[in-house]
Amino acid sequence: MADVNDSAPGTKVCTGCAERKPLEAFHLLGGPDRRRARCRACVSAYMRERAAHIREANAPALAAAARLRLEAKALELERRRLHGKACGCCGVVRPLENFEPRSGWRLDGRGSKCSDCRNAKKRRRYARDPSSSIARRRAYSQAHADELRMKWLQRSADLADSYIVKRLTDGSPGLRAKNIPRSLIELKREQLRLRRLAKEFKQAVSKAKEDQ
Ligand SMILES: [Zn+2]
Ligand SMILES: [Zn+2]
Repeated sequence: MADVNDSAPGTKVCTGCAERKPLEAFHLLGGPDRRRARCRACVSAYMRERAAHIREANAPALAAAARLRLEAKALELERRRLHGKACGCCGVVRPLENFEPRSGWRLDGRGSKCSDCRNAKKRRRYARDPSSSIARRRAYSQAHADELRMKWLQRSADLADSYIVKRLTDGSPGLRAKNIPRSLIELKREQLRLRRLAKEFKQAVSKAKEDQ
């Protein structure tokens, strides 16, 4: 087929849409004079149609694969909730609560390092440069003063058993929560409550003095 039409030089009739178009409307085929029989518009329409056809044909398989992936994710999440997950740093499997809550794409919404590894990192950083750690902590507590105070008030409002037990067993690794008598927990709760009240009272007094 001749690309150049004598009656209208530099044009060619598309076998797709049957329109006469300038040669530039046809893709080149190999050499400079050979061009596709169908115009660019017809070729891209054909490609679109073909892609849609392929998508349609693959749709059931893709949907099944997506369903399987979702199921696998749900199973993995359930497994982690029940049995914990391995720390990305030390490799030890720990309950999810040992991993810091993190937003984002993470499956379980938690970080990859266990609390031991995170604390060890903080200790190393502190040993390397104590002043910067102290400065960072001070800057944080100044920036989040209101928020921290709200948290503190929240904690004093509901002194949970777990918190009391933690305070009781601090520094006594041999002491187990289940071995602590109920009455001791209640006593400790009362003590902590009183201490907090006293602290609040002191703060209020010193603030009143400052304001004078
Ligand atoms: Zn065409
Ligand atoms: Zn770890």
